[in-house]
Amino acid sequence: MRRIYFDHNATTPVEPRVLQAMLPFFSEDFGNASSIHTFGQKTRGAVERARKSVAELIGARAGEITFTSGGTESDNLAIFGVVAAAPESRKHVITTQIEHSAVLSTCQALEKQGVEVTYLPVSREGLLDPDDVRRALRPETVLITVMHANNELGTIQPLEEIGRIAAEADVWFHTDAVQSAGKHPIHVDELRVDLLSISAHKLYGPKGVGAIYIRQGTRIQPLLFGGHHERDRRPGTENVAGNVGLGKAAEIARAELPELTKHLAAMRDRLEAGILAEVPHARVNGARAPRTPNTSNITIPYLEGEALVIALDLKGVACSTGAACSSGAVAPSHVLTAIGLPPEEARASLRFSLGRANAPEDIELALSVIPGAVARLRELSPLYPKTVAVK
Ligand code: PLP
Repeated sequence: MRRIYFDHNATTPVEPRVLQAMLPFFSEDFGNASSIHTFGQKTRGAVERARKSVAELIGARAGEITFTSGGTESDNLAIFGVVAAAPESRKHVITTQIEHSAVLSTCQALEKQGVEVTYLPVSREGLLDPDDVRRALRPETVLITVMHANNELGTIQPLEEIGRIAAEADVWFHTDAVQSAGKHPIHVDELRVDLLSISAHKLYGPKGVGAIYIRQGTRIQPLLFGGHHERDRRPGTENVAGNVGLGKAAEIARAELPELTKHLAAMRDRLEAGILAEVPHARVNGARAPRTPNTSNITIPYLEGEALVIALDLKGVACSTGAACSSGAVAPSHVLTAIGLPPEEARASLRFSLGRANAPEDIELALSVIPGAVARLRELSPLYPKTVAVK
């Protein structure tokens, strides 16, 4: 059976050019990048070229990029690191209710240490109101952390405005750009961010690799202690192949962004139009907000999203629900409940996240199976009132 992958926000395959760039660093070019001999110099050169490519993707300087083990570590380093370096009098953080758990759980851990955190709500379209940020500021606020693109909805937050507010208030500003890097233009000076998180495996690079942008002059403490790697910000022998992979992925993403955006948006629009036309009561979440071109979150009321994901998987179409599965119980997504969906609608929502290798035929194949799968599940569902069966 032909299998179609529409879960690129969960992870992406390593692009062949990225893999080619990485391969020599597992065997021939294995030197420790901190060694001063030729073996080490060769890998040091490769790591520094990769750093430059990552910097260029976001309009930063190479010296402002620190390699990490991924988006989660970058978020932890930004949030814990800035708070730890701040004076005792500045222990308040502002964030949103729709952040990834890499940010939310970090903020919750800070609360246990006595730091106060404000979790701002978002609109029905999934957008934060910059005025809410302004109102939440206190003299003791040290950090604002607001994600760039949401992983479930694809909605893009008005970071320029929030950045202006943060700069005026003299508060550090971090963004989790894990879901926007490579899908949406990013320039750290335009966004006025001081810290920005990236993950390689969301942009056709390897898993377990990421980076954090730290604007020169930002006061931050490391999370880990050890050697003097990464300018004392992240000790540990460099993951040379991984960093090279992220560098190559960033280089490709930068060069091909306009073309990729067009390709993805056209397929996303066709998928949404097809589902809205063929599936009664379906609704696209965040459709009126600025969005990444690859992400579509659709509520299909009167069924369980998990059941539809499984039914579609049996037909060869891989997508996901926004719901996190914890201790065997399917909790409704915190993002979808934050935009105002009742729990049963949040549980009846699917995320399709498209990628560079998808083709228009994949969309047509998905559209040929989705309406039938929905109809079969609704037939079985006590939730489906037969009187609303016709649109
Ligand atoms: N932030 C966002 C918005 C994400 O979507 C993810 C991954 O799902 C992460 C952070 C975590 O990144 P990583 O898997 O590299 O730790």
